[in-house]
Amino acid sequence: MILQGKYFNIGKIKEGQLASQAQTLEHASPQTLVRRGCIGDYRKVALWKDVPEEQWEDWHWQIDNRIHSLEAISKVLILTPEEEEGIKKSNGRLSMAITPYWTTLMDPDDPECPIRRQAVPLKQEFQFGANEFVDPCAEDRDSPASGLVHRYPDRVLLLSTEKCAMYCRHCTRRRLVGEKVSHAMNAKALDAAADYIRSNKKIRDVLISGGDPLMLEDSELEEIIRKIKSIPHVEFVRLGTRVPVTLPHRITESLIAMLKKYSPLWISIHFNHPREVSRRCKAALDMLADAGIPLGSQTVLLKGINDKPYIMRKLMHELLKVRVRPYYIYQCDPVKGTAHFRTPVAVGINIIEKLRGFTSGYAVPTYVVDAPGGGGKIPVGPSYLISQDKGKHVLRNYKGKIYTYVE
Ligand code: SF4
Repeated sequence: MILQGKYFNIGKIKEGQLASQAQTLEHASPQTLVRRGCIGDYRKVALWKDVPEEQWEDWHWQIDNRIHSLEAISKVLILTPEEEEGIKKSNGRLSMAITPYWTTLMDPDDPECPIRRQAVPLKQEFQFGANEFVDPCAEDRDSPASGLVHRYPDRVLLLSTEKCAMYCRHCTRRRLVGEKVSHAMNAKALDAAADYIRSNKKIRDVLISGGDPLMLEDSELEEIIRKIKSIPHVEFVRLGTRVPVTLPHRITESLIAMLKKYSPLWISIHFNHPREVSRRCKAALDMLADAGIPLGSQTVLLKGINDKPYIMRKLMHELLKVRVRPYYIYQCDPVKGTAHFRTPVAVGINIIEKLRGFTSGYAVPTYVVDAPGGGGKIPVGPSYLISQDKGKHVLRNYKGKIYTYVE
């Protein structure tokens, strides 16, 4: 199947092409990326037609030229009344911010475009349901120091910045992320977080997230990683990011060189739809994978975006092709203003039912509900154990056939 963005060819890369790309992408100039079909024809979007390739490839330029206003987005999309009202209301926290790159993936004529729906606010964001919360996973309650969440025994979450390249409309941390606040974690807060980790010897795994840690400059991010890695009982760090998807230009040679110094370092990347795995995104993922950085994915189950088994299967297959191991599918958290994104839990279970056994085990992530109130991630899925009694287990396989296993 060839995937074709309206303005941006994200089609199949031929057999062998990926491997040869991988060998030399680290030194690829914008011109080389264009020649290899990685950048795509962004000039077909009228707003960017005069932008030189060097500028287009500069991640700072992409950030400085994000779309924030109704006026600017009207030059890219034909807006619906629901979108217009949503954009007008979405000031302050989680205000609209869309990278120029992301606009090349959106369908200007289709309000149901899965790429567009994740970035453009709708008026439904301002309708709150009875079972929705500001902080559904109670992260603030489990915060022993500013910017630190400690829920599970041997690992912590460090919120390194409040900024993201793009603000996803389904964001669980919408109470925290946004533009109108200070950017990087300040030195005092970082010291306090590091002191807490140092004094808790059980902590062996630190997830640096945000916001998005790849919004920090290399030196700012390095300072955080260096400080955390210098704690003897921290075995490894993870970065949680969506930047390789929303702003792949941020994956630069200098960033890679810095990250390589801190192995073992894992990266979890937030992907929601197969169309996000564009050629430009693949080029960035190749750089990360070639540097020996293990990559995993996290996906939020979203109504009308990825709630069909065939879409999820396609996404998981695309990820494996670019050396990203599918890790989690999350039930969309009951955060205020996201009811229009949420599906019944049965939809997620059915997706796993349609994956398990029907495709490679590597393509089957764990579907979890992050328990409201701070219970943590709880795996949910189809049951294959029908009954058990006195060492006898009655099981069903993926096709529904019944088998008995006797211990
Ligand atoms: S990148 Fe993550 S933290 Fe940032 S808006 Fe999207 S979901 Fe929220």
